[in-house]
Amino acid sequence: MRVIVVGAGLAGLTCAKVLAERGTEVTVFESSDGVGGRVRTDEKDGFLLDRGFQVYFTAYPVSKRHLDHRALDLKPFDPGAIVCRGSKRNVLSDPVRDPKALVPSLLSDAGTFPDKVRTLRLVVSSISQRAETAGELEGADSSSLELLRSYGFSERIIDDFYRPFYGGIFLDRSLATSSRVLRFTLKMLSTGKTAVPACGIGEIPKQLAARLSLDAVRTESPALRLLWDGERVAGVETTDEQHEADAVVMATDAPTARKLTGQATPEGSVGQLCAYYAADGVAGGKKIVLNAEDGGFVNNAVKISAVAPLYAPRGKHLLSAVALGWFDLPDEEIYRRGIADVTRWYPEADLTPLAIYRVSYAQFPQPPGVHEELPENRASTPGLVLAGDYTEDSSINGSMLSGEKAAGEVMRA
Ligand SMILES: Cc1cc2nc3c(=O)[nH]c(=O)nc-3n(C[C@H](O)[C@H](O)[C@H](O)COP(=O)(O)OP(=O)(O)OC[C@H]3O[C@@H](n4cnc5c(N)ncnc54)[C@H](O)[C@@H]3O)c2cc1C
Repeated sequence: MRVIVVGAGLAGLTCAKVLAERGTEVTVFESSDGVGGRVRTDEKDGFLLDRGFQVYFTAYPVSKRHLDHRALDLKPFDPGAIVCRGSKRNVLSDPVRDPKALVPSLLSDAGTFPDKVRTLRLVVSSISQRAETAGELEGADSSSLELLRSYGFSERIIDDFYRPFYGGIFLDRSLATSSRVLRFTLKMLSTGKTAVPACGIGEIPKQLAARLSLDAVRTESPALRLLWDGERVAGVETTDEQHEADAVVMATDAPTARKLTGQATPEGSVGQLCAYYAADGVAGGKKIVLNAEDGGFVNNAVKISAVAPLYAPRGKHLLSAVALGWFDLPDEEIYRRGIADVTRWYPEADLTPLAIYRVSYAQFPQPPGVHEELPENRASTPGLVLAGDYTEDSSINGSMLSGEKAAGEVMRA
């Protein structure tokens, strides 16, 4: 049996890995110059620059089936966050994971004591359900904002903590994202660590690709169209050749999959702008720094080299500052606004601009109810299987589950 996978993102690589483990001949066609899709890391002047700030949850149930965490040398963030409003900073911790920080957390004025008790209740109710993805969580879905309000959280902790914290995860501060994503993420945060691989987030797909034979992945080989044998998909055409196969797994992003297959996939996108600076004098340690101010520029920032030292050359530090939107601003203005926000929180910070990533398509939007409407891996067309985060949820874990399920569909067919 010969299988073609289109796209060497996490979904395509996981699918190819599972198929290869079962002895199937598989070729992955990737349009770009490397593996990883949305999960890649560049090197510049000794700094490791992830293509947009992203984190890995060690509790992700699917990805840990396929990844060797030890070999990734995962470096954890400190739990909780530093919440900034103007020049004021508050340490907010997750008492479940970081008991020693309970006292400063309870004393901080980002949220009242009852809000912290509500947070604990929400954590307990979120970790009690068994689920491999957000979409598998049971119970009525609503927006995250509605969920938080139904728990009685004060508007203050919603604005000061939940909007910037989950804004950084959902890439949208409005909290309109499905409460299932909030619950599932909370479960991951509370039952494992938040981390990055020592040598950059791009090590995750590289580890998957290393499990395939050397010639299995062909980069700079975009699939231009599907080949048909009557009603059945029979292969793909790339720029140089036609390639026949018994099954084609379309593992691109949702818009490309829609264009190439005609199948319905989720519309729209949420994005992230990530500015990197060589940083001196920024404190904050291994915690994420959140901007509680509405209308601010930076949503969240972190001295990522404090978490994973190899992100910066010896003796230097790397700071990543994330904004949600603002893609049209010129680079100088982005750097200037980033510096203005960070130096308000850390006046001693000395930031030198390094690079900017404008990632307009980071995730597909996940409003309440979206998970019930996502496409199945098994397409209505014989010979075609769909893979990609858009069949599960928009995350590292969701995309890998999608790849795993797609491989199962191919084997069944
Ligand atoms: C900035 C950012 C922050 C994120 N933060 C997090 C986070 O903190 N935690 C988390 O779990 N998730 C996060 N995510 C989401 C997560 O990275 C994605 O859900 C996941 O990587 C999607 O993988 P995928 O394989 O489904 O799709 P993709 O990574 O998009 O892979 C699709 C692949 O198909 C290729 N392709 C497209 N068209 C063609 C064609 N015609 N022919 C051949 N190949 C083609 C693409 O080049 C790409 O390599 C973030 C994403 C971004 C971008």
